[in-house]
Amino acid sequence: MNSSKVNKPSRDSTKVVHSGKEDVSIHRTVNTPVYRASTILFKDTDEVEKAFEDAYGKSSDSPGVFKKVPFYGRKGNPTSWSLERALTELENGYDTVLTSSGLAAVTTSLFSFLKKGDHLLVTDTVYEPTRHFCDKVLRKYGIETTYYDPLIGEKISELIRSSTKVVFMESPGSHTFEIQDVPGICKAIKSNKNQEIVTMIDNTWASPLYYKPLMHGVDLSIGSCTKYVVGHSDVMLGSITSVEKHFPKLWHTRQLLGVSASPDDVYLATRGLRTLSVRMQKHQENALIIAEWLSSREEIEKVFYPPLKDDPGNKIWKRDFLGAGGLMSFALKNVKENAVNRMINGMKYFSLGFSWGGYESLICASYPSKSRTATNWKFNEPGIRIHVGLEDPEDLINDLEAGFKRLHKS
Ligand SMILES: *Cc1c(COP(=O)(O)O)cnc(C)c1O
Repeated sequence: MNSSKVNKPSRDSTKVVHSGKEDVSIHRTVNTPVYRASTILFKDTDEVEKAFEDAYGKSSDSPGVFKKVPFYGRKGNPTSWSLERALTELENGYDTVLTSSGLAAVTTSLFSFLKKGDHLLVTDTVYEPTRHFCDKVLRKYGIETTYYDPLIGEKISELIRSSTKVVFMESPGSHTFEIQDVPGICKAIKSNKNQEIVTMIDNTWASPLYYKPLMHGVDLSIGSCTKYVVGHSDVMLGSITSVEKHFPKLWHTRQLLGVSASPDDVYLATRGLRTLSVRMQKHQENALIIAEWLSSREEIEKVFYPPLKDDPGNKIWKRDFLGAGGLMSFALKNVKENAVNRMINGMKYFSLGFSWGGYESLICASYPSKSRTATNWKFNEPGIRIHVGLEDPEDLINDLEAGFKRLHKS
């Protein structure tokens, strides 16, 4: 695919509406229907033989073949292939696999390229369950993780060992939103010609609409579709979009782990995708209004949101991203946990809950220092993380303003 074609938001808003739709012509519905299937029926034994060959290649140990053909529910069906095609186009990749959750997309990616004795580099600001998977599962299988400073850039080459097989990025970082120099990191990794290291990134924050990691040198872009692609807080789903070279391994590992996605969930995600560009525009617009308002409040020490001009990541964000999500956080001056709880407990529109990316605003307390080992967190805790939804921004500001009044009340 011609990469220069997709790097424009205008092209992408057409893509989210039209891509991945080849399957729907038969019954003339606008949307690809939900094919609910475990068993796929074959006409005769010749067809079974042919399907085996298509699905696995001529011998069962030839991992190069991963055709999307009707075979068995776990391998997907037109419902999932449709979304996989659409995400592949948006991410400018070779192909995509869907998984049962965003975390399953992370673990499938890591299991695909690591074995006993290997070493991996993971950003210190990684999504906490990804860190737990490295520390509690990979370690148990003899795979060692080193966490690196998200601002490391090309200096990452100093951390490479002969056993290093994977670099796992996330930009911006979970909870604290540091933007990484992804092209710099990838350049440093790829210039090491002595060994092959697979680069992967968690691309959930900006969604495939506003960040295209594969165009900046990354091999695998991982997404929690649960967030913006689904967009309505009612489905768990993950995706991994890959360059051609690494796709077969990824596809086979997903099969072997059995973390396939449910067709009903995939249908809802595809439906969400069709409105992604208008939702993202509004999330971004609202979030910037809120972030600027928060920056002017005297109880706030710092707002962490890369689109803000004085954010340390603003330069790289502007260079590499096409837009921003609505998730941000802030640190307060001289604050106590019970005051933060008072603020959170009385909110009208910002509901208390995990996850984000739905149409609604959310709020939770944030403790960055609890999930870091390579860097120090210099700001007061608890901080507050908010997801800015699609409500009227004035209502959201009034809600936060009333929250700050509760914060001050002793
Ligand atoms: C939510 C999230 C995930 C995990 O996705 P689930 O679909 O909840 O399993 C991974 N990475 C990031 C950055 C997330 O915010």
